[in-house]
Amino acid sequence: MNITADYHTHTIYSHGKGTIEDNVKSAISKGLKTIGISDHGYKHMGFGIKYKDIPKMREEIDMLREKYPNINILMGIEANILDDKGNIDVDDKVRKYFDYVMAGYHFGSTPTKLIKGTLNHIINFLGPLKKNAIEYNTNAVVNTMKKNDIFIITHPGAKAMIDLIEVAKVAKETDTALEINSKHGHLTIEELKLIKDSGVKFAIGSDAHEAEDVGNFIDGIYRAKKAGIDMKSIINIDGEMK
Ligand SMILES: [Zn+2]
Ligand SMILES: [Zn+2]
Repeated sequence: MNITADYHTHTIYSHGKGTIEDNVKSAISKGLKTIGISDHGYKHMGFGIKYKDIPKMREEIDMLREKYPNINILMGIEANILDDKGNIDVDDKVRKYFDYVMAGYHFGSTPTKLIKGTLNHIINFLGPLKKNAIEYNTNAVVNTMKKNDIFIITHPGAKAMIDLIEVAKVAKETDTALEINSKHGHLTIEELKLIKDSGVKFAIGSDAHEAEDVGNFIDGIYRAKKAGIDMKSIINIDGEMK
């Protein structure tokens, strides 16, 4: 089995430890054909990229493309899902800089409805109100896919409970892949079993915050295998899953 691409890696532009070039070099050493740089959206307190750095990152990546012509280097972003209307922190002005947009739900993002969003996490533990929280979170993810051109939803189900069957249905309709995140544990084996026959596509992501973790798919592959996921539905691996 070969890992062809890792679309989910962080750098010092958000809260990763390595530079873009460090991630590229690591990807080359591991034989990847494609490396995606996907730092956190700017509406993430503490972790997000700086809005003004976006053109600079693009320049750096274009320069690295010339320096390392044997690997495909892409500039992506892990945008924050901000609310249940499907708003994310990528606006029309900066969209052109990115080769692809992923979106995920994170604590510490600063949505218009920060308090409501935070309350939802608390509500997840309260029982009777749980249903409302799941509905809010599911709408957030589903509307994000409907409203924006999203390549991959990162770690669905982590940090916020969702109706995964509904999310998988809309992911399929909108041609969005769901991530099997090697670092966060979502999608879990149970979650994968629930949607493995839905026809949705998957992408394994290292979510590397250090260069040496780029392409580290060990846990993701383990879970995909345990759940009996069809290898062909995973967009960034090649050959048999061993
Ligand atoms: Zn994330
Ligand atoms: Zn991430």
